[in-house]
Parts: sequence; structure tokens; C-alpha cells
Amino acid sequence: MHRPHIRTVAVAVAVATAATGLAGTALALPGAGPDSAAAATSAAAPVVQAARAAAFAHASQTGVGQGDDLRAQDVMLDPEGARHVRFIRTHQGMPVLGGDLVVHLDHGLAYTGVTRAAGHDVEPATTKAKLTPEQAAAKAASVAKGDAGTAHLVVDARGGASALAYQVQVTGSATTESGGSRTVVVDALTGKVRSNTPDSDEFLSPKLIEALRERGETLDPATDNAPLPSGLTAAGSTAVTYPRTVTGSGSSLFVGTVSLTTTQTARTSFLLKDATRYGTETRDAKNKLLENFSKGTKITSTTNKWGNGSVSSRTSAAVDAQYGITKTLDFYKKTFGRKGIANNSKGAQAMVHFGNKIANAFWDPTCNCMLYGDGDGTMFKKPLVALDVTGHELTHGVVEATAKLEPTYVDANGNQFGEPGSLNESLADIFGSNVEFYANNPKNPPNYLIGEKLGLAQKFLRRLDHPSLDKLEGTIDYWSASTYYTEVHAGSGVSSHAYYLLAEGSGKKTIGGVAYNSPTYGGLSVKGIGRAKATAIFYRALTRYMVSTTDFHDARVATLKAAKDLYGASSTEYKTVDRAWAAVNVTAANTPADRH
Ligand SMILES: [Zn+2]
Repeated sequence: MHRPHIRTVAVAVAVATAATGLAGTALALPGAGPDSAAAATSAAAPVVQAARAAAFAHASQTGVGQGDDLRAQDVMLDPEGARHVRFIRTHQGMPVLGGDLVVHLDHGLAYTGVTRAAGHDVEPATTKAKLTPEQAAAKAASVAKGDAGTAHLVVDARGGASALAYQVQVTGSATTESGGSRTVVVDALTGKVRSNTPDSDEFLSPKLIEALRERGETLDPATDNAPLPSGLTAAGSTAVTYPRTVTGSGSSLFVGTVSLTTTQTARTSFLLKDATRYGTETRDAKNKLLENFSKGTKITSTTNKWGNGSVSSRTSAAVDAQYGITKTLDFYKKTFGRKGIANNSKGAQAMVHFGNKIANAFWDPTCNCMLYGDGDGTMFKKPLVALDVTGHELTHGVVEATAKLEPTYVDANGNQFGEPGSLNESLADIFGSNVEFYANNPKNPPNYLIGEKLGLAQKFLRRLDHPSLDKLEGTIDYWSASTYYTEVHAGSGVSSHAYYLLAEGSGKKTIGGVAYNSPTYGGLSVKGIGRAKATAIFYRALTRYMVSTTDFHDARVATLKAAKDLYGASSTEYKTVDRAWAAVNVTAANTPADRH
């Protein structure tokens, strides 16, 4: 939020090179900045060149044409030989919203196909605006109720047609709970507002908060108050140089006593910063709506013991935050070789005690940080720092750095709608659950439930095995023609359910002490292939075969391609992917006519 953030023009090249492992993306090189720099210095250069040339040479398939310019955002070299380059597009120098595409090449750099966000030609009818930038900025400021930045011309190729438009970032938006920023796109010919989207991802949607208010539900999560074991602090010793990396002990709100990698800056001075995870650090926003991480107050200790397991210490919430973020980073690195949220070897920062009585948590891609509110003291009584909240929100950061799935529509309250947005929420839940499985903390037993630590009356916020057991957001189990117009958290059930069925299969089972009974469309029975393989397939699909407009039927195709890459087209894994989607009513036969 807060600082200029234009999703579609951010360029960070992350190069993934050949690797072993299920997902095949280990050994990523650090992001090397703009594509030209990466091209000059890495093995990716010939791949990017070949992919760009192929995009123009196969214009009828890729939709890339005259006046278009492609900048590489991601280069993936699969161990099986395939190469994939994710491009963002400009047209006559203007960013193209919804113009993203992934070009696929074989081992010999020959073109094998494309995954593209816009199915149509992105060239607008005219490149001459009728509105001035000032008029567009004024319009944006009035709809988002805040301070408009400079209006920039873009091509808006979302929604099945192209138009010349202005993109404006509006900060201090009174229409956003946290006073954050919004990106407003205004038609440059008619002045119509084409979209008005909050820049940061909120864990709890405005619709859900309203539902809880209507029910008069108050949430007081049970936190853990395990005492600190003694003797876990780093021993002071002679002849050491500072700063140095040490191991401390944190007493959290939700995950018990945990080990934290911290920085010792002097003999009795420690900082909640982890040099082994790209300098990931948690700070205190001191209950302000802080503009950026550098203004946060550093969290220090004289003992290397952090927090006291209760909100009476401001540091306890910071322990949960730092633990959750480092476990999320470790999950992505150990499982997929992903180095940091954007795969650019940068840490993910956090600020706890964000704002005054904010009952939400946010991923802010501009500041590259998590912002955690303390709860509003009435409905939500504790800071929103639970592990799966962090795993969910940071996965939005991963999606932002890869497929950039976008909602198709955002209402005036900030509720988002549409299948690509639903898929984004679903992936955040899927990988958020996987962070719990990875951390495997007995105080926070892993499961396929989301938000089970929030203290909700229904015991969870969402669940992957049988999404419609959620009565708060009205999450759905199966796809139907109306899913395209469903609120994104409610819609997330379709692919979350498909993922669960792929991993664990249909019917009754108890996993880690939790009883599941996953239903299927038409009573189809599905035998799961296991969580590790299901997760590998979804991750590969996200990074290789999804773009900003991917809907559930596209996601089916993307996961089938991923399964084919990893296990072969005649494998049980491939067939189970097909069956899992059929079990949520997503099939080749009921694919809607192209909406893009
Ligand atoms: Zn979300």
C-alpha cells in the first residue's frame, strides 16, 4: 500500500536453473534486476532471446504484435529440458494490463507453446487520449477518496477487449480499512472507472468482517503460555565480533516457545533480525499506519529471549510474526528451491502492532512486508499473527511475483470477485496449509484447515477438504457457471477442494487427528497421490502455466501440464489431476467459451 505500486510494470528477473526435486525449480539465481542485466550476465540470456523471438515469430498463437515490447520477468530452466520465460508486455511504451504471457521452449530452444493472459489482440483502437492526466487523477482521487499520484497512460487489455486508459495510484484511501493505497484505472476516452483495486492483500475480506459483526461473534483465540526454558540464550563469550548470528528463544502467542535466529549486536544487545534468511526482520509499527518498514521501531533484547507468551509483552506478537515468516521462507526454499518471496534472495519484513485496533493482516508487496494489526479489541481480541495467516499472505506475495492472478472485479467496499482472484486465494490457502505441515509445530498441528487459531465459532475460517462447511464466507465445493461472479474467498473452494482430493482423495479419513470427509461432484471417487506430489504439481502450474487471467478451467489445464512434465502423460498422477478436477465439476467438456 502507501508507496507507488503498479503491479504490471514491476520487473524483477528471477532465474531458476536446472534442479532436482519434485518441483524442479531449485538453485534459483538471485534476481538480477532488469532483464538486460540478467541477460548479460547469466545463462538465461539465450533463453530469453529465443523466447522473445519465438513470441514474435508465432504471433498468431502468442498475440504479440507490432508495437509490443516484451520484458522477461522470470526464466525457468526445467531439469527435464523445457524452458519457460514469463514476460510482461508494453505496447508503444505503455504497460499492457493483462498483457502477460509465458513462452514455452524445448531443450533446443524451439517454440512449444504459450500461456497468455489476453486471448485477443491488445492493440487499442486509438492511442490518443481525450482526458488529460490531471482529469484522470482527479477522477481516481474522487472514487478512491485519497491523494492521487501522477496518471500514466496504459493499455487495459483485461476483460476481453483493449482500451487506452490511465493508471493512477491513490494513497491514504478512505475506502480502505488500513488507510492504504489503491490502483485506479480510468478510461482515457470516456473517463469511466475501469477498475479500483486495493494494493495490499487483506487476510480478512470486508464481507467476512461484516458477516462476523452481524453475528455479534467475538474472537478470543486461545494462545499458548508455555514458560521459557532456561539456558537457551546465546552465551556471552570473549573474542567475538559483532554483529553475529545467534540463536535465541521466543515465547509466542500461538506456537509456544520457538527457536529464532537473531543478530547479536553487542555483548548484551540483540536484534530480531535473521541474517541467514536474507535479513528477514520484524519491527514494531507502534500502532501507526506506517508508510514503510524503515520507519518501524527495531525490536531488541538484552537477553536474546523474546516475548512472554502473552500480549502483555509487545514482543510476543513479533515472535509469532518472525517465526511464521522464516518458516514460510524455509518451506518455499526447501521444497521448491525458491529463494525469498520474489525468488530474488531478499528477506520478507514484518511490522507488528500496525495501526490502531486493526483487525486484519496484510501483505504489502511495495514495502515487501507483512503488516499485522492487533485486533480491534472487541471482535478480534488478539493480533492476527497465526502461522497459516502468514503462510497465506506471503503466498499472495509469491503469486504477485509469478502469475499475478487478478480479480476480475472489485466492489466499492474492496470485495474482490472472479475466478482468477479465487484461484489466488485458493493457492494462498493451499501453500499456507503446507507451511503448517512444513513447520510441524505441536502447538500448531498441521492440517487442511485455514484460520483454526482465530477462535471462530465454526472452528476454522476455511477448509480444503469440504469447503462448504464454512458458513461465514459461503465457500463453495464445486464449479458452476456462476463461479466467475463469486467473491474470491467463497470461490476459492473449487481449486482448494481439487487440491485436497488430489493429495488425499475423497471420503472419510483422519489425518493428524483431524477428521475429514471430502465429498465429490456426482459421487466420483478419487484416490489421492499424496500431499508432496499434489503440492509440486500446483507449484509448477503456478510458476509455469498460470497468468493473470487464469480461471479454474485454465488451472485444470495448467496442473495437467505440470503433472505431465513431472510424471508423464500416462502416469497415475496425471490421471488423478484430471479426476480431481472432474470431482469439483471442472472438465474439458464444460469449459466455457473464452471470456478473456
Ligand atoms: Zn488472501
